[in-house]
Amino acid sequence: MNLHTSAVDRLCLRNIPLSSFSTYSIGGAANYVALPETAEDLVELYQDCEKKGLAWYTFGMGSNILFPDQPNPETVFISLKKFTEFKVKGDRWFVSAGTPMSLLSLLGLSGNTDILDFTFLLPGCLGAGIYMNAKYNQREICDIIDTVYYIDLSSKTKSVQSIPSAECKFAYKQSIFQHHPWLIVGADLNIPIHSEEQIEYVSSLVTAWKERGNHPSSLPHFFSFFLGEAHALAGKGIPTPQSMLDIIKYRTSKRHFDYPSCGSVFKNNYDYGVATGSLVDQLNLKGTEYGGAIISPHHGNMILNQNHAKASDVLYLIDMITEAIHKQFGFVPEPEIVLV
Ligand SMILES: Cc1cc2nc3c(=O)[nH]c(=O)nc-3n(C[C@H](O)[C@H](O)[C@H](O)COP(=O)(O)OP(=O)(O)OC[C@H]3O[C@@H](n4cnc5c(N)ncnc54)[C@H](O)[C@@H]3O)c2cc1C
Repeated sequence: MNLHTSAVDRLCLRNIPLSSFSTYSIGGAANYVALPETAEDLVELYQDCEKKGLAWYTFGMGSNILFPDQPNPETVFISLKKFTEFKVKGDRWFVSAGTPMSLLSLLGLSGNTDILDFTFLLPGCLGAGIYMNAKYNQREICDIIDTVYYIDLSSKTKSVQSIPSAECKFAYKQSIFQHHPWLIVGADLNIPIHSEEQIEYVSSLVTAWKERGNHPSSLPHFFSFFLGEAHALAGKGIPTPQSMLDIIKYRTSKRHFDYPSCGSVFKNNYDYGVATGSLVDQLNLKGTEYGGAIISPHHGNMILNQNHAKASDVLYLIDMITEAIHKQFGFVPEPEIVLV
């Protein structure tokens, strides 16, 4: 702990565009942006914000967030992107909240298990993955979690507590963390450690990510990093399995990494039984443009930033889709992206 400089002064960059911290490349300049690398720095930051009467907003890779065009100047925006850590805990892995989920797929490959394949090229960090219970096809993040560690931000001490996965109320894109002011610090995976070689490999991977991953939240950069690492493993005799090749094919065919976006804008309404993207397709809204934003011509549930879009452009298209679905199909679709 540095006794002389306050955590806000020590850890915050000033007047930084939030667009660099969102895969949407949208967001005005924030007065304070912090990138803590440890749980201790994180706790100090919250305590200092409280002392100074500043609000905070904590996030990961910004792949599910629409930042405002004019952020509140009294808010400290806290990115967990640099809080990347794997620890060996007995025969299990502890993984910190800022670790990219896609890194887990390579951990799985190097440990001879296919359980983690679904995280390959899934944008975002583990903390938000747990918060949103991120999924791909039939697999969800909750399938691979044993215990979650979190800070109750409403407590005075801000000490780290734990909760078993079975008590986290995981459901489709739901978790207990959406209903409490709890900040996820990390989690124990229910995946056993395979070998010393795997530990060494994962440690080198984290170093490579930290060295190259300080880049703004850019989808092409994310894609090329993880594709490159999968190719490197193939070069060492660990071929990319069919499930991961299928993911590459699916995400590139849907142009996931070509334009800035935040993936699916709405959740699917399983009671209605038709995916939101198909409803947008039926309404002939694919390709509709407003300002710099466009409803993806390739995926009806994605709104892309095709030309310096503002948050207000995306919000306009979100409202348009919401009204059209309500009018035609009789329900209000629930947003998946978080509007800050
Ligand atoms: C091209 C593309 C494809 C995508 N495909 C999928 C997909 O197949 N499946 C899927 O589920 N999602 C998908 N997404 C959405 C995104 O990958 C997930 O929602 C992911 O979990 C977001 O992680 P993040 O770190 O970027 O979160 P952020 O966008 O940074 O944050 C999202 C929310 O989580 C909260 N949060 C972040 N970290 C923490 C924490 N440590 N503790 C508590 N709350 C926290 C934030 O406050 C915010 O409310 C896709 C996104 C893109 C851009």
